[in-house]
Amino acid sequence: MKAVFFRKHGGNEVLEYGERPDPTPGPGEVLVSIAAAAMNHLDIFVRNGVPHVPLPQIPGADGSGVVHEVGEGVAGLAPGDRVLVQPGLFDGVCEFCRSGEQSLCVKFRILGEHLPGTFAEKALVPARNLFPIPAKISFEQAAAFPLTYQTAWRLIVGRGEVRPGDTVLIHGIGGGVGWAALEIALLCGARVIATTSGPEKARQARSAGAELVVDYTAEDVGEAVRRHTDKRGVDLVVDSVGEKTWMTSLRAVRRGGRIVTCGATSGPNPAEEIRLIFWKGISILGSTMANDREFHALLAVVASGRLSPRIDRVLPFARAAEAYRLLEEGRQFGKIVLVPESAGRRWPDGD
Ligand SMILES: [Zn+2]
Repeated sequence: MKAVFFRKHGGNEVLEYGERPDPTPGPGEVLVSIAAAAMNHLDIFVRNGVPHVPLPQIPGADGSGVVHEVGEGVAGLAPGDRVLVQPGLFDGVCEFCRSGEQSLCVKFRILGEHLPGTFAEKALVPARNLFPIPAKISFEQAAAFPLTYQTAWRLIVGRGEVRPGDTVLIHGIGGGVGWAALEIALLCGARVIATTSGPEKARQARSAGAELVVDYTAEDVGEAVRRHTDKRGVDLVVDSVGEKTWMTSLRAVRRGGRIVTCGATSGPNPAEEIRLIFWKGISILGSTMANDREFHALLAVVASGRLSPRIDRVLPFARAAEAYRLLEEGRQFGKIVLVPESAGRRWPDGD
């Protein structure tokens, strides 16, 4: 099969596109013919070098396609079924899995990081990580939402416990998780303050329903939030940026408010003012991906058409390096989807 892969860590120069052996499904596993795969920041971290990544590695967490072959003991799935991949892998037997918190599994792993991923014509996936694609949802849409939208769902609904009327500050609305969090917070009836850079992303966030959009390159976010909330602060801050935004998050949250952290795209070790945390009684909550219950709830909302992932562009696997570069430079708005080459398809111009 053809796949995007790398034999050593590094920049885009380590990415190759070529032949890899076809995998064979073991017990409980399914071989999926990939129809679409979507890029995440995770793919950049994995390419750059995370110590536990086996080499050579095929990246890619998000994907959708058609069941090609099922392993021993797999029930309820047959060749030809349209499926999407839930990329959070769990053992199903530990204390946390048994209590329904699969993303807290002691053996939690992610497809494309710990195991070969979806940037290939075929991918091996545990049967319990495959879900039927709802009617009217395309392969590209089905690949575009699982990782970011489940992360955002747990941030807003599971951990953030957003209620109608809550005010939510979301840093970096241009990122996949940020945009998904905006949509889900609005669906919950929250008022959203979003931060971004540049007029185009600000315009998009406003038209999606953000009450206030702050351009962090032009304005002090903490000050803008203070002014907008009449000095009260917001009920919840969603921070996936880390070092660059953490102090602003501590200042922007109201007394007794919540900050949910789910990433550190600008670095993991921010300055911190502990006095602000205890004096304001701030709850700081961590969040990673989602449990099965949350994923099912999200899938139902996607199937109903009330959430639809934004797709920036679709490129063939052979142009994966270009897709990585666009994501690294933050020039996309929405998901970059990679698909196998297919005859007769027109591709967007090179970049
Ligand atoms: Zn477990």
